[in-house]
This record gives sequence, structure tokens and C-alpha cells, in this order.
Amino acid sequence: ADSYDENDVVVIGGGPGGYVAAIKAAQLGLKTTCIEKRGALGGTCLNVGCIPSKALLHSSHMYHEAKHKFANHGVKCESVEVDLAAMMAQKDKAVYNLTKGVETLFKKNKVNYVKGAGKFLSPTEISVDSIEGENTIVKGKNIIIATGSDVKGLPGVTIDEKRIVSSTGALSLTEIPKKLIVIGAGYIGLEMGSVWARLGTEVTVVEFAPQIVPTMDGEIRRQFQRVLEKQKMKFMLKTKVVSVDTSTDVVKLTLEPSAGGEQSILEADVVLVSAGRTPYTSGLGLDKIGVEMDKIGRIPVDRRFSTNVKGVYAIGDVIPGPMLAHRAEDDGIACAEFISGKEGHVDYDKVPGVVYTHPEVASVGKTEEQVKESGVAYRVGKFPMVGNSRAKSIDDAEGLVKVIAEKETDKILGVHIMSSNAGELIHEAALALTYDASSEDIARTCHAHPTLSEALKEAAMATYDKPINI
Ligand code: FAD
Repeated sequence: ADSYDENDVVVIGGGPGGYVAAIKAAQLGLKTTCIEKRGALGGTCLNVGCIPSKALLHSSHMYHEAKHKFANHGVKCESVEVDLAAMMAQKDKAVYNLTKGVETLFKKNKVNYVKGAGKFLSPTEISVDSIEGENTIVKGKNIIIATGSDVKGLPGVTIDEKRIVSSTGALSLTEIPKKLIVIGAGYIGLEMGSVWARLGTEVTVVEFAPQIVPTMDGEIRRQFQRVLEKQKMKFMLKTKVVSVDTSTDVVKLTLEPSAGGEQSILEADVVLVSAGRTPYTSGLGLDKIGVEMDKIGRIPVDRRFSTNVKGVYAIGDVIPGPMLAHRAEDDGIACAEFISGKEGHVDYDKVPGVVYTHPEVASVGKTEEQVKESGVAYRVGKFPMVGNSRAKSIDDAEGLVKVIAEKETDKILGVHIMSSNAGELIHEAALALTYDASSEDIARTCHAHPTLSEALKEAAMATYDKPINI
């Protein structure tokens, strides 16, 4: 017997899904243990995802602004240089402080933290091989699987995290590559491509599909691609990678049109494979207790996050739904609430998505393509950032706001924003969607002047009337 015998809840995985579920469960009075094998809390997001990428996006943006834009604002710099080691150190410090912060939150909320890899022995018993090399059994009445996701490789491409890197390697390069090829034009590839492009790397994005970020509203996506092209990012769409040759100093990629055709060779110092992420259940022993998985390895759950095995729940990247940290967090809260006998709630149709490039692209609700397909009559209101006085006053007016509302009722169906700070602006729209607001509700809400948020007000106005400032 050990001190973990009496757990009400055991969470496997300390990412944004798992650590939030553990804290919430403890706050609800449940005795809770969280098992994490990484040696640090915060999962993919804090350690090798959201946080380090945003740190590098900010630092590289500062460099780029200093080099190319400060002079326009009357700020003269004699010489602007990159100190990559210092940039990486600032990123590492941010990651360290945040992961340690979660550990403090565990202590504050009395969540037991076990450092090690967990494996099911039964639906109520987890064997943990601790980081120190010991084995413990952790027992719990309810188990939450929050083991997240891992990098999805490409057949025939071996990731060495030096020249052929995943997002993890791309967050820790020790030199600025002259040429970088990004395989996959999803948000992770575009964010990491932006970081290195700003630092002077020639970036080419190779994508199998005919478009970048397939989940994005088509009109916004096309404008977004043009913006990235202006930032000197090159795109090779409808192109597949046939093979990779690393036998010489440069990496050689053999490419072919997705539909077949003449092959070409593209060379680079570093290749980033960002072709998606895959649910992570390796070594968990799910087969031992009979937890079902779908064809692509995700764990199906019901609305209470319960798997097919009683008392075993799953949340976050390891289950179907948008693979995003805030979604995993909301799953975690709702799952803990259900376990404690309360109601929980997450609406996957209203999860905002943000690409943290510059400008940022953020959206919530349906794209115009999805609305069209649903057959609902709709109206679109748009407002370009060049009409927004705050954006103009700071010389940062690239982008637009697009509001899609139901024609008959004016109910907002989707909002898409490309603008600086779009990731912050989108939450007004998320709230509006949550409350089934009409676009007129937003338009009649007094917005402070001069703010970027006024662009959303004007786009909302444009769905049923005319905007003022354009
Ligand atoms: P994870 O964060 O993957 O955590 C799972 C944890 O479980 C891991 O720490 C793992 O070590 C642990 N684990 C696995 N198996 C076991 C086991 N058997 N025993 C013990 N522990 C185990 N999302 C956003 O919302 N915004 C962003 O800006 C963003 N940027 C990203 C940038 C990059 C480069 C990447 C890769 C991802 C990004 N994401 C972003 C996605 C986000 O990181 C994930 O959606 C999120 O981390 C999922 O949370 P999770 O808790 O489900 O799983």
C-alpha cells in the first residue's frame, strides 16, 4: 500500500488538459494525483508548443520591427543584430518559469504529483515507472487519460532534430539557417516559418493540399497567403515530398506535383516536418483494459468524456476535436465537474483558432464555406483594417474583419479576423457566439476609440447596414 491508495481521481499526463483537470478536481474536493513522465508539467503546450513558439514569435517580431520599421517611427538604431543564444535563453526562461508555476499551483491545490510514465494494470490501478527508476502503483476510483499528442512523421523522412526537425527542433536551432523548407502549411509550420523568415532565413513551404491552413475561411486564407508572400515566404502548394537525401552538406528534397508529374529538387540547410500531430497512447496499456480507439488512434468519448470503460475518462489532444490547448483545458474542467457529479460543458463549435503570425489570424464559428454548405441564407459584413484609425495611427493596418450572420435572424455564425492582435480581438466574437448574439448586438455595443476592436463593430454593422469609416 502507498499514499496514493485513496485517490478519487488520477490524471495521466500533465499537459493543459491534465494539469487543469487535476487542479479542478482537487478544487472540487476530490483527492487527486497527476502522473507526468516528462519531468516537467505543462505538456506539449508549455514545453515544446504554444509557449516557446510564442516567445520566439515575439522576439523575432521585435528584431524584424527594429530592423525594418523603427526608422519609419523616428527611432534610429545604428545596427540591429540577432543574438540567437540570448533569444533562446529568454524562451527557455519563459518555459521554465511557467512549468514551475504549474508545480506551485499543484502544491497550492494539494494535487499529488508523480513524476513517471503511467501504464494501466486495471481500470483503477496505474503502474508508474518513476523518473528515478522506481516502480509505484497509483490507485484511483476515476482515471483521466490526458496523454496528448506527438509529432506525426512522414513516411521515408527520419527526423534527427538537427537538419530534419520537428517543431521541437525548430524551436531550438543553434544557428539561423540560410534556407528552411517547411513541409506542411498548417498553423505550426507557418508560425515556425515566420520566426526564421524574420531572422533572415529563406523559407519555402511545401504543401500537398491546394491551400494553406485548410480549416480557415477561404477569403481570409487567400489574403493571408498573399501577406506571407509579401514577407518573402514562398509556397509550393499541390506538391508532395517524394524523398529526402541527407548524404551531403545540404538536404535535398525530391518533390513532385501531388497529382503526379515531373519531379524537382529543392535544397535547404534545415527541413521542418510539420505535417500534423497524432494522438499519443504508446505504452499506456489501453489494450490491457479494453479502451477502444478509432482508426487514427484517438480515444472516442461520450459527452461526459467517459471512454467505453467505466471510470476511465479521456480529454485533450488524445480524443477527437480541435487539437488546441484551450480546448484541452476546457475538457479538463468539464471532465472534473462530471466526475464530481456536477454538469460540465464544452462547445467544440465555438473554440477559437489563432495563427500567431504577424498579422495574426483568428476565427471562431463557421467559415463562409461551411455556412454555404449548410444551406442557411447569410450575409457577410467586412471591414478592412486600413479603415481603422488605431491600426493606421500605429502603421499596422494589414488585414480585415469578416462577420457572417444568418440572413433572417442576424445571428452571428462566424467571425474571422486578420489583424495585429487578432488573437485577443476574437474573444468578443466568441462571447457573442456563446450568447447567440446578433451582429447588430455587437454593432450597438459602444466600443472605445481608437481601438482595433472598433473594426469588429464596423464589420458587424456592415452585415445589415453600411460601415462608417470606409
Ligand atoms: P499534451 O500537452 O501533449 O500533454 C500530454 C502530456 O502527457 C505530456 O507532457 C506527456 O509527457 C504526458 N504523457 C504521455 N503519456 C504518458 C504516460 N504514459 N505517463 C505519464 N505521462 C504521459 N495550441 C494552442 O491552443 N495554441 C498554440 O499557440 C499552440 N501552439 C503550438 C505550437 C506547437 C509547436 C505545437 C507542437 C503545439 C501547439 N499547440 C497550440 C497545441 C497544444 O500544444 C496542444 O493542443 C495541447 O498541448 C494539448 O494538451 P493535452 O493536455 O491534451 O496534451
